[in-house]
Amino acid sequence: MAIWNLGSINIDMVYALPHMPEPGETLAASSFDQGLGGKGANMSVAAARAGAHACHIGAVGPEGKWTVDRLTEYGVDTRYIAQLDTATGHAIIAVDPSGENQIILYPGANRALTEDQIGQALTAANAGDILLMQNETNMQAEAARIGHQLGLRVAYAAAPFDAEAVQAVLPFIDLLFLNEVEAAQLQAATGKAPQDLGVDDVIVTLGAKGARHFNGRDGSKIDVPAQRVTPVDTTGAGDTFTGYVLAALDRGLPMAQAMTQASRAGALMVTRHGAADVIPDLKEVQEAKF
Ligand code: ADP
Repeated sequence: MAIWNLGSINIDMVYALPHMPEPGETLAASSFDQGLGGKGANMSVAAARAGAHACHIGAVGPEGKWTVDRLTEYGVDTRYIAQLDTATGHAIIAVDPSGENQIILYPGANRALTEDQIGQALTAANAGDILLMQNETNMQAEAARIGHQLGLRVAYAAAPFDAEAVQAVLPFIDLLFLNEVEAAQLQAATGKAPQDLGVDDVIVTLGAKGARHFNGRDGSKIDVPAQRVTPVDTTGAGDTFTGYVLAALDRGLPMAQAMTQASRAGALMVTRHGAADVIPDLKEVQEAKF
């Protein structure tokens, strides 16, 4: 089986600053780091590192070709990534000495996908494959509808949160991933608990408190505790968790086991600086001692 991920690819540019710039101020950074990021790319890498056949559907511009090479290197199937004549999505991340950050995000090519591109990629999908999306590309509702019609298991990670974007995909999705804040935002927007929105599987991640699964068919719940670790950087923990859950479900593991594996992967992520470049593989996750 395969996981099809309609997702963002970003170049993360991280600048260490003595303090956050004031309006009108020019400030020299003391260091600069460039890496692969974007929730979509992170989730594709996590699914691939977890052993799944992860096909990324996305787009980059001319200066982003290296991101595609990097995804290939990490085991992602990149043949459905379009090369466009527009800027690659990027994030300019300023970090001050206290670790506080400010981010300018330019979606660029991530929002220049076409329904045709998605439809064409998914002609290679088989019923029972998983289609995953997040809210960093355009065409989410169109993709969800196509996936649903093809008999794929459609999964949506509601991040960055936007009530309208979630509501547009709700009729077509089978799995919904939310963190604690997103779950509260969705409840405020709809007036209903996320598990009462007609989605078969709702997974709410709770950071150091673990994660909870709600079975929308029979109302049952599964609680998975988090591993005890000392966090240094929580970037990408949720994305890694999502990629790992889906890879495990794709292999036929039951939900409780899928979430346990994902929680171990998420815990490893918070002990590391960085995003896609430091996502652990399945062997590391299985062998990690907590
Ligand atoms: P997001 O990054 O989307 O906000 P969470 O912070 O809820 O998502 O983290 C996703 C998962 O990663 C958690 O459910 C948990 O399994 C793991 N995780 C996150 N933070 C920690 C932590 N401090 N200690 C251990 N595990 C963590």
